[in-house]
Amino acid sequence: MTLHQLLNEGTDALVRAGDPEAKLDARRLLLEAFHLDTVHFLMNRMQQLEQTEAVRKAVCDYHCMIKKRCRRVPLQHIVGNQDFMGLTFKVNRHVLIPRQDTETLVETVLEEQKDRKKKVLDICTGSGCIAVSLAVLGGYEDVTATDLSPEALRLAKENAERLLDGSRRFRLLQGDLFEPVHETYDIITANPPYIPTEIIKELQPEVRDYEPAMALDGDEDGLGFYRRIVGEAQAYMNPGGSIYLEIGYDQGEAVTGLLEKAGFRNIRIIKDAPGLDRVVRGEGGCYV
Ligand code: GLN
Repeated sequence: MTLHQLLNEGTDALVRAGDPEAKLDARRLLLEAFHLDTVHFLMNRMQQLEQTEAVRKAVCDYHCMIKKRCRRVPLQHIVGNQDFMGLTFKVNRHVLIPRQDTETLVETVLEEQKDRKKKVLDICTGSGCIAVSLAVLGGYEDVTATDLSPEALRLAKENAERLLDGSRRFRLLQGDLFEPVHETYDIITANPPYIPTEIIKELQPEVRDYEPAMALDGDEDGLGFYRRIVGEAQAYMNPGGSIYLEIGYDQGEAVTGLLEKAGFRNIRIIKDAPGLDRVVRGEGGCYV
């Protein structure tokens, strides 16, 4: 038996299960089971595997992981992590798996906000991917993140402890949106749940069956959280503060309208890598 054969076997099983990324996923799981990097895999894939206890265990782990993936358990839940902004975040079933889409939000903030002294608030933080990557890559000295889910916050705490060096103020607060917040901020970010309730059942099984509904479900029209966030945000912003919201590809106009109505200025929609509307930013910080 060779690694190459194991890869083909796993790929075939995943194709039959409808995995759209069968080959890539099988390879990732094989590397994970054998604790191999790509270079060693490519060098050794045609060699007969030795009959050691360690190899037997790796083969068994691999089969077990392929079986899970055949049930459409997300790859990230099987391996336990996901890369985001070049950092590795732990994930589990209590948080939304960080998406490349959300890197657009982080990149926009990093581009527009160079002052490290600015205070950052991230609501609906989940795994903490936005808050932690802003703290690490933007160097912001004071970052607060909130989430309603205590399980999500536990994971965000683990990610923060692993990825941050403790030289800055990083706080996690449990509560509904702004409920646990008692200070004002210069930058507010959020990737709230924004999928219309009816659409959730049409999503891929990985998302629909394994990711938390509370991180996806944006009420009947998908805009429920934006109404609340935009309505309350001004009260938590310093003068000249900015807000950055991730949105669904077809929500740019609606969220822009909400920001305008709440008195935000310089509102702009930013597109993601595939060219879809993905972030809306605006400036507020004074009452109108
Ligand atoms: N972008 C995610 C998806 O399409 C949804 C994220 C969200 O609701 N905040 O699965």
